[in-house]
Amino acid sequence: MMRTADIIIKKRDGGTLSADEIRHMVQDCVSGRIPDYQMTAWLMAIYFRGMSFAELAVLTEAMVHSGQVHDLSSIPFRKVDKHSTGGVGDKVSLILAPLVASSGVPVPMVSGRALGHTGGTLDKLEAIPGFNVHLDAEQFREQVGRIGVAMIGQSESFVPADRKMYALRDVTGTVESIPLISASIMSKKIAAGIDALVMDVKTGNGAFMAKAKDAERLARTLVAIGREVGMPVVALLTDMSQPLGRAVGNAVEVVESIECLKARGPDDLREIVLALGAEMLVLGKMAESVAQAREKLIECLNQGKALETFARMVAAQGGDPHIIEDQSLLIPGDLREETVTADRSGIVASFDTRRIGLASMVLGAGRQTVDDRIDHAVGLYIEKKLGERVSSSEPLCRILYRDPNKMKRAREMISEAIAISDAPAAPPCLVKFRVDADDLARGTGRGENE
Ligand code: URA
Repeated sequence: MMRTADIIIKKRDGGTLSADEIRHMVQDCVSGRIPDYQMTAWLMAIYFRGMSFAELAVLTEAMVHSGQVHDLSSIPFRKVDKHSTGGVGDKVSLILAPLVASSGVPVPMVSGRALGHTGGTLDKLEAIPGFNVHLDAEQFREQVGRIGVAMIGQSESFVPADRKMYALRDVTGTVESIPLISASIMSKKIAAGIDALVMDVKTGNGAFMAKAKDAERLARTLVAIGREVGMPVVALLTDMSQPLGRAVGNAVEVVESIECLKARGPDDLREIVLALGAEMLVLGKMAESVAQAREKLIECLNQGKALETFARMVAAQGGDPHIIEDQSLLIPGDLREETVTADRSGIVASFDTRRIGLASMVLGAGRQTVDDRIDHAVGLYIEKKLGERVSSSEPLCRILYRDPNKMKRAREMISEAIAISDAPAAPPCLVKFRVDADDLARGTGRGENE
């Protein structure tokens, strides 16, 4: 009979846990046989002692099998998903999923919600009138098979071990553990029934992992878990030192995503979409090289195939596809607008990106706690980005709001978050680093990591 206390002590003292010991902790946590105080002690021991890649693979698989696992094996082709560690203005999934699907690689996407300074794909999708993110397993499989893409939320029975462990970590100071974050992310991706994964690990002051070194360690750990469980993972470290694109919020981000799907969106957003999408096409075996994949993606954008797939997905999930032509269906005319202007001339030198995300949350576009309600219509437009020249009194940011008090707080935060200087500043490098399983074996990665 395995004693839970002995397993906690073993990890506390830096030992390596056996597969049975790890499975015992996960299974008995979910069944309620392990009390919360023992589970949190174990999580804290992992926080301090870490886990080997082999331990993490067992932990991840035990978490996957704690609940419902989507079986998409009846769908031909390799199913590939993308996961982002989250950021400000990160609407990549809305463009990428239909784009990659329109290029022949099925994308079964299980997404999350906004919390704190970061936005969430599900909230953005729900800005589309009627859009339903609660498909059951059969509807999910059927839609991915028929259209090539479905974007849904997590049901109660989806990786319950992560639900339970994350709730405990959230209140006991163990969220910021790279091994635990990695197992949490990978368990949810594997349970979605995919064959390969592209990770977008954000780095910079709007990212969950602000420091590049931590982001790189997270990227390597995710790739390593993939290698251990037999799922190819490619991770890109991408910039989050300013909002991605110009729109921050929900409906405003859907509008910007549609622009991008019409091959007109902001350059930085388009570039990140193409970089991630190209990796997905290669992993999905629909292209032989990243360069060939990019060409294919650009063709799908230019020919309107990506937009058409987006429209089909929206309609299939109960949303109104007329949003594609009629923005007033997304952003009601009764919203008020305020402009944050520059107090001097110069060049935009830095963003406190996290603060921009928090300003959007304060407006009502995000959540402070998981139970907060969102106003999908409110949001921001960043008028000037890093390296752009601005004259005194020119607009830096437009705020779409309803409540004047919330707007005032947001306006103050945004003014403080954007710095202007005289020195020329180059726009940031968008994709800083790439790592896959071969790089792990060689102990390398490609790119420059400051
Ligand atoms: N995101 C996740 O999905 N899990 C974590 O543990 C942290 C961030």
